[in-house]
Amino acid sequence: MRRSVVAGNWKMHGVRADQARLVGALLEGAEDFACDVLVCPPFPYLLEISRQLSGSVWRLGAQDLCADPGPGAFTGEVSGTMLHDVGCTHVLVGHSERRALYAEDDALIARKFQAAQAAGLVPILCVGESLDERERGVTETVVGRQLAAVLDVAGVAALSRAIIAYEPVWAIGTGKTATVEQAQAVHAFIRGRVAVQDAMIARSVRILYGGSVKASNAAELFAQPDIDGGLVGGASLHADEFLKIGAAAP
Ligand code: PEP
Repeated sequence: MRRSVVAGNWKMHGVRADQARLVGALLEGAEDFACDVLVCPPFPYLLEISRQLSGSVWRLGAQDLCADPGPGAFTGEVSGTMLHDVGCTHVLVGHSERRALYAEDDALIARKFQAAQAAGLVPILCVGESLDERERGVTETVVGRQLAAVLDVAGVAALSRAIIAYEPVWAIGTGKTATVEQAQAVHAFIRGRVAVQDAMIARSVRILYGGSVKASNAAELFAQPDIDGGLVGGASLHADEFLKIGAAAP
């Protein structure tokens, strides 16, 4: 396991041919990254991309999973077991778009976190405040609550098999990046919250920053003491840009 991670969230972009081109370009351009690198394509392409990435440095993640381990009558859902079966190693949990557009609350996200680990996947737990919450000065209250919801049910030890991603909602897909000071401050807060329960896990847990990460700002963000890489949306759809971001991680 490397100290830092760069993960690409492709969201609902591209069809099969686009995905194959993107993966081909990533494989061609891949170097010996100092960080762990992974991509999170849409569900229908996971199996094919898993085969393409096989034997490479790239790992595969999904963007969501069912909170129930299944199998069972959960029409439209995809279980952690299924994701693991097609080659996923990681899965995003609680992305802000899931929270905002699909009404996923802290309790559901905690269940998804546990379902991911039960299936042998590494959950990437996304937390972050909205613009309104930042302006009201409640960033730490919100992020602390989102983190506690998972720690309360899964226990701090579960973080030794998980990744946290701090993604201020106002910086996702907007072109607005949190300043390095703003990002570092929340990362330090998260690590501090974990340290209250377990200092060793707090030191080792990887906390990624997400929100308009680009090749031009990645190195500065990743140089912060509590930023251990990035969760990258838009820029991960451009192989050159994404490869540069991967290369910027220490
Ligand atoms: C994301 O999708 O998690 C994200 C951070 O998107 P973007 O990099 O486009 O802001």
